[in-house]
Amino acid sequence: MILLDGKAVAKDRRAKIKSEVDSFKSKFGKAPGLAVVLVGDDPASQVYVGSKEKACAKAGILSQRFDIDKTQNVEELDSLLNHLNADQDVHAVLVQIPIPKPFEYRSVLELLDPRKDVDGLTYDSMGRLWSGHKSVAPCTPRGVMEILKYYDINVAGKKAVVVGRSNIVGKPMAQLLMDENATVTVCHSKTPSLEEYTREADIVAVAAGKPRMFGKEDFKKDAVVIDVGIHRLDSGKLCGDVRFEELGGHASAATPAPGGVGPMTIAMLLQNTLDLATAIETRKLK
Ligand code: NDP
Repeated sequence: MILLDGKAVAKDRRAKIKSEVDSFKSKFGKAPGLAVVLVGDDPASQVYVGSKEKACAKAGILSQRFDIDKTQNVEELDSLLNHLNADQDVHAVLVQIPIPKPFEYRSVLELLDPRKDVDGLTYDSMGRLWSGHKSVAPCTPRGVMEILKYYDINVAGKKAVVVGRSNIVGKPMAQLLMDENATVTVCHSKTPSLEEYTREADIVAVAAGKPRMFGKEDFKKDAVVIDVGIHRLDSGKLCGDVRFEELGGHASAATPAPGGVGPMTIAMLLQNTLDLATAIETRKLK
């Protein structure tokens, strides 16, 4: 079984991004800028945001963090988004999810300038993705496609199953696989006999958010298994949706979790920031 080592792929990609950021700076006289907005004080989000900021600094991307306290008015998030939309040094905006009530992610989707939508989640970005005119794809599914490409796994003509239909992972994952000519089935919590679908697939991307739900018996021999799930168990250990240790000698290739899709999500955040910054600064030159 080939270990699809997302950590190694991410390292390789991040080195390339760093050198592309250097060229960007020479060409445009500024760094690509990412604004990270954290609403509330969710401890896991604090950790994710911290690692995203560190990754930006290493790549030469200017990241700025904006904290909104959950006691602040909903309008303050709206006015921050308007400010970031207008800020010439901000090319990309990430609003970390989940966001606590009464704040609503919907207002982000409606207010954020799609040209700065680093996670590809605004209505405009999603419509573009589904209609074949994407600007940037959401970071996690884009990261999955990069892993497949890196290991020369051709998806054209293959049967692919995506487990999960969230806007941030499952749906865009299905579209990106379809863009590469896979025949895609999307499963979810209301799919009866889920294993009948996953066992038929050449490629399975699992994003159900259920710790260690899937094992060897859920995949056909020589399937490619991508585990998007990530969970911290009570013991403190991290695991995915798949029992990775069962796959040796059965799957043809699989991502571990941790060390698979997660590192690629951060690498693709950097790539998407650079892509958006390049598009914005190039438009200004015209
Ligand atoms: P959501 O909770 O938004 O979506 C989960 C999806 O899985 C839903 O569509 C749900 O179906 C489906 N599902 C839930 N239970 C089952 C089941 N028993 N059988 C079949 N389908 C099921 O999660 P996300 O998409 O945001 O994330 C999924 C996982 O990926 C999580 O573990 C998350 O932590 C991880 N993740 C990892 C990232 C990374 O960088 N590695 C980045 C983003 C997410 P329904 O629609 O019917 O409710």
